[in-house]
Amino acid sequence: MPPLTLQDGLLHWFANNGRDLPWRRTYLPYHIWISEIMLQQTQMDRVVVYFNRWLESFPDIASLAKAKEEEVLRLWEGLGYYSRAKNILKTAGLLSGNHGGGLPEDHTALLQLPGIGRYTAGAIMSLAFNRNHPIVDANVERLFSRLFNLAAPVKEKQTHAFIWQMAAKLIPKGKARFFNQALMELGALICQPRSPRCDLCPLRDHCEAFAMGVVSERPVTGKPKEIIKISMATGILHHQDKIYIQKRLADDVWPNLWEFPGGRIKEGETPEEALVREYYEETGFTIHRLEKIAAIRHSFTRYRVTLHCYHCHLQTSKTEPILKAAQEYRWAAPEELENFAFPAPHRSLINRLAGEL
Ligand code: SF4
Repeated sequence: MPPLTLQDGLLHWFANNGRDLPWRRTYLPYHIWISEIMLQQTQMDRVVVYFNRWLESFPDIASLAKAKEEEVLRLWEGLGYYSRAKNILKTAGLLSGNHGGGLPEDHTALLQLPGIGRYTAGAIMSLAFNRNHPIVDANVERLFSRLFNLAAPVKEKQTHAFIWQMAAKLIPKGKARFFNQALMELGALICQPRSPRCDLCPLRDHCEAFAMGVVSERPVTGKPKEIIKISMATGILHHQDKIYIQKRLADDVWPNLWEFPGGRIKEGETPEEALVREYYEETGFTIHRLEKIAAIRHSFTRYRVTLHCYHCHLQTSKTEPILKAAQEYRWAAPEELENFAFPAPHRSLINRLAGEL
């Protein structure tokens, strides 16, 4: 029997090893779109949980188009990069009045929609509509850098262009849905970043890096980004069984999410001094009786944040803030905090204090 082609080997492997994922049971354009946006920067296991919860609230584009931003952000809470959720909502609104209420089967039209770039448009075209469009994610980049033994950094313009070109060229006609998923799945499960399982790889006979014995040297990466450490302080302000929360500005980090006030600790300040200062600057409140709760660590992009968290109280009788870093505020009962979307570290703080607030 002649050896399997790269395509046949890969498709055969995927048919036997592809994971059972909720959106792979339907391949509906709406399901593919939501799952692909969620998968950007988030691990598969977590996405499955968020995806299932999302569909319970918004089973289709029509129900999503009617949603309030607050509900969408609450469901997105913890996934980060909140502009993705806001773009989904905008796109649902646009689609409900156009394209018959669904996603268009047209690459150029998809690219016009908020939050849909080359990758997501390619994913919708190939996975949902089975049209021959390539997709390249980090898994495919890594796989191709080994398969074709690419000696230049994968993010370099020319290398990147070559990878997209090959991803398009290799798709067997009429099989884009399974082929594109197979590439990404092989990258995720077998051709892994640190310990590729070459012994189990269906593409081993086609792999140039394996043949040359340089798998551990691929992919070639550029200069690693510098990690930035930040210390911050935040405080849960109590007053008559209520807690002060405020909604962040729309054009700031964590846009439109709710938070406990606080901010960066300046050089020479203690966390307590920083919190008293931040409260005054952001709300006009003078706080006292600070009691440390915990230090929560949180990472996003290249930032490593240590968030010093406190309980605190008003020093004066004034309960009306002067909002400087927020668009609105509430004095909320502890059980109401469930209804608001908070950034991940603030939600961790709420969860940590469950039953104590
Ligand atoms: S043989 Fe190894 S390095 Fe090459 S594609 Fe397969 S898993 Fe990746």
